[in-house]
Amino acid sequence: MHEQANAGTLYIVATPIGNLADISQRALDTLAQVDIIACEDTRHTQKLLSAFSIKNKTLSMHDHNERQRQEYIAELLQQGKNIALVSDAGTPLISDPGFHLVRHCRSLGLKVSPVPGACAAISALSVAGLPTDRFTFEGFLPSKSGARQSTLSELADETRTMVFYDAPRRAIDTVEDIVKTLGGQRYVVIARELTKTFETIHSDTAENLLAWLQQDPNQLKGEMVLIIEGHKVDPNAISPQILATLELLVKELPPKKACAIAASIYGVKKNTLYEMALSFKR
Ligand code: SAM
Repeated sequence: MHEQANAGTLYIVATPIGNLADISQRALDTLAQVDIIACEDTRHTQKLLSAFSIKNKTLSMHDHNERQRQEYIAELLQQGKNIALVSDAGTPLISDPGFHLVRHCRSLGLKVSPVPGACAAISALSVAGLPTDRFTFEGFLPSKSGARQSTLSELADETRTMVFYDAPRRAIDTVEDIVKTLGGQRYVVIARELTKTFETIHSDTAENLLAWLQQDPNQLKGEMVLIIEGHKVDPNAISPQILATLELLVKELPPKKACAIAASIYGVKKNTLYEMALSFKR
């Protein structure tokens, strides 16, 4: 799809996740210069704009009216207006509204441009001390224990670092569910109140983390990101015969294919072989 000439640009503007000083100069310039700012919550965004003495028009766009708003915003862009989209905090679309709007605008060939900045998931990952070369963002964990345990169980063999959003008031229940589904020895990091006064980054085994949370009710306040270490493949748990077959297969086939064949020959889960296959390939 070609971009529409003379149309305006939709800027996706990240805002701070706690510390106002984290706003970028380009975000401030964009918010001051666009024709209108689409906000998850106009009153919330007004406070941010006032803090930087920015006066501009705002329009509400949240989960419940995004589908209707997207038509109107696209029309304004087609008329040549520039529009910024912000959420209450962090990067719009990341567990925040905006996906339908961006998809709609892009499908019409309208220009969508990022003004990057804070994101709680990436900020937490940057300080967690867990592997970051590959990771998976899982959004919000379900609030009910049954659904949460199913989600965690499905991720039991995931070898990449896993990033979740969760409410600290549920932290004890969540970590209990991690112990039940992934085991007490799985390494977990809680990144709470990032960039704010009571910023706390605490990492330990799920078992120890549970005891730590139980003895300090202050850890159940505010906002948090939860990061879980990926499943570690213990090469000793894979028989030498499987390893030898995998090594041969990897010489001839892409790692995924090699794992699938070795897994079906020996009746093991293919995910448990993937890290080994990659290391053979390297
Ligand atoms: N779009 C936002 C972003 O880029 O991070 C996330 C919005 S989501 C509705 C809000 C969740 O992000 C919170 O429930 C919490 O899990 C996480 N979060 C936001 N600010 C945070 C902070 N300062 N410290 C820790 N977690 C935070």
